[in-house]
Amino acid sequence: MKSAFVLALIACSLVAAEPTLPSTNSVAIRAGRLIDTINGKTLERQVILIEAGEIKTVGDEGSVTIPSSVPVLDLSKATVLPGLIDCHTHMTSEPGENYYEDLFRRSPIDLAVLAHLYARRTLEAGFTTCRDLGADEYIDVALKKAIDGGAIPGPRLFVATLAIGCTGGHADLNGFSPHLHFDEFTGVADGPDAIRKRVRENVKRGADWIKMIATAGVLSEEESVGAPQYSFEEMKAMVDEAAMWGRKVAAHAHGTEGIKRAIRAGVASIEHGSLLDDEGVRLMKEHGTFLISDIYNDDYILAEYARRGYPEKIIEKEKKIGRLQRENFQRAVRAGVKIAYGTDAGVYPHGWNGKQFAHMVRWGMTPIQAIQAATMNAAELLGQTNRLGSVAPGRFADIVAVAGDPLTEISLLEDVPFVMKGGAVIKNALPALQKH
Ligand SMILES: [Zn+2]
Repeated sequence: MKSAFVLALIACSLVAAEPTLPSTNSVAIRAGRLIDTINGKTLERQVILIEAGEIKTVGDEGSVTIPSSVPVLDLSKATVLPGLIDCHTHMTSEPGENYYEDLFRRSPIDLAVLAHLYARRTLEAGFTTCRDLGADEYIDVALKKAIDGGAIPGPRLFVATLAIGCTGGHADLNGFSPHLHFDEFTGVADGPDAIRKRVRENVKRGADWIKMIATAGVLSEEESVGAPQYSFEEMKAMVDEAAMWGRKVAAHAHGTEGIKRAIRAGVASIEHGSLLDDEGVRLMKEHGTFLISDIYNDDYILAEYARRGYPEKIIEKEKKIGRLQRENFQRAVRAGVKIAYGTDAGVYPHGWNGKQFAHMVRWGMTPIQAIQAATMNAAELLGQTNRLGSVAPGRFADIVAVAGDPLTEISLLEDVPFVMKGGAVIKNALPALQKH
């Protein structure tokens, strides 16, 4: 496990480009196959013209003229896709070797120092955009600024800062002596007024999104998993206040009742959705709410967390809910609920984001649907369809490529060899490229 990490890091350092702002240079890509995420089909032999970090032209090889001054990237043996989007990450942390060591010996400064590594790994895995749903101490805002300023490589980030939840809930620290105090910023807020103030504070500090803790969680020590943790009035206050500031709300919600309350309160997405029932599905369709269901990480948690000293209570919660979450994801897919790709990366190692594709296909999606979840649908959730989620004129030149066909072998997206962000090549490990 650990040695795999080290190897991965060494491999990355061999192929990775230096931190870059979007490239100002023009470049053309010859794509053997291009996945058209808007129409859900594959186009053969396409040319993509890129200028100043944006896609200018896309068309059949015969119909697009490449100016002689423009260098060509030959991806004619590869399948080209838009950069992938993970709508649920925690870019500022990763599970350490021991749960209690982490809690008592690791400070937010330690997290901040390491976050750039996670951002880089995520980008090099082909995820050029992430919605980061909850971080300590506004580290996510600092990370985003450093990436946008070109100081370090990383995905485009939409950040939520502190998750907002109730006293004793999933966003609070539970299970410790009442004499222990952690000196930190907190997203704990009770009652509509305090919640509104908390939203304002998060926006003031740089939140693009608001993260609501609508129900109890799995990786926390409060009693039940899935019990509602806000009243409808509290949820409505959060959504209304967020809307006043032009922000949307993502609701962490495992439990059936909390899911429904959050949908009715007007959240944009339900995160996890583990105990979603038929009525919840109907409500999601009615309200156009997205489901972001992290159906890969159960494998990792059950394999790893006991060894890392996580409390038995947490492991038991995961055992109870993991399979149900997958079955209810399938129920939502079959019913036609809008699904966007989100993995809860940070619960498992960053850079493994692509492992969820195969699970989404196993649990009811077609490969093209899973790819659309991580491109077009994610862009729609983010309100960015004109900039992200497709290879089309006007979009950022965020492009990935794999050697085979991910529509017949979805696991290819677990190890993406070519990554471009904003027209700059971040990683190029495809064989026989750049011969021009
Ligand atoms: Zn999460």
